[in-house]
Amino acid sequence: MASISVGRDDRVFVLTGAGISAESGLPTFRAEDGLWAGHRVEDICTPDAWRRDPAGVWAFYSARREQGLTVKPNPAHLALAELEAKLGDRFFLCTQNVDDLHERAGSVRMVHMHGELAKARCERECGRAPVDDRQVYRNLAEVGRCECGGRLRPHIVFFGEVPLEMERIEREIAKSTLMVVVGTSGSVYPAANFVNWARHSGARTVYVGPESPLNASSFTNVVEGKAGVVLPGLFQTA
Ligand code: NAD
Repeated sequence: MASISVGRDDRVFVLTGAGISAESGLPTFRAEDGLWAGHRVEDICTPDAWRRDPAGVWAFYSARREQGLTVKPNPAHLALAELEAKLGDRFFLCTQNVDDLHERAGSVRMVHMHGELAKARCERECGRAPVDDRQVYRNLAEVGRCECGGRLRPHIVFFGEVPLEMERIEREIAKSTLMVVVGTSGSVYPAANFVNWARHSGARTVYVGPESPLNASSFTNVVEGKAGVVLPGLFQTA
């Protein structure tokens, strides 16, 4: 089994994608037939789809919210939380996932660059912070309204929108000496480019997943295997 040494001066940046939640039972987009109620997923998760058919987009995310309530963090999520507990502020996690399995495993120093399933926000950007909507929306067939009267939309970065927390992410990548990327196909930008930003700063770069991602040639090291099997024994800390 491969191992990666993490020295006292190392700063670790981890990027995760849908693959890390696969062993918890949440399907990746590519693993499914790519369709939902007869529509391509790429056609549902867009600002245009939200304008045209907010109830349809809402129903799509509500189904994912329901599914998210039934699953638990797997050994891969737990291994990253354990690594963070050892490294403290020398660890940073950026996930493309909208589920909350990392925080339920204990991760703290982290961002959701593509948003969070459990939250909704005002589409008018009225200034109200995203709200935890699990109580309100679980059984709601209709799209809700903000206090200001605007429609509440899922706190999700639709295709074509700018990801969240990009300045912080860029700062953390620039500081890192080791980047570990887990379970992402390397097809969604800008996340697929993070490995190149890290290499540019001189960091080691490692990919973990059962198959090579599209950007495999950018990594120093590709460790083939399921995240839940590989991650628990991967890191040798000083
Ligand atoms: P993707 O569906 O494009 O690719 C999934 C990747 O995970 C593939 O490369 C596959 O080889 C890998 N994989 C499958 N099983 C794995 C395992 N057990 N261990 C490690 N890797 C495994 O996903 P993406 O690249 O993350 O991009 C799709 C977009 O959709 C992202 O924004 C993603 O976060 C989002 N999405 C999120 C969730 C979620 O929140 N759980 C689920 C589906 C899609």
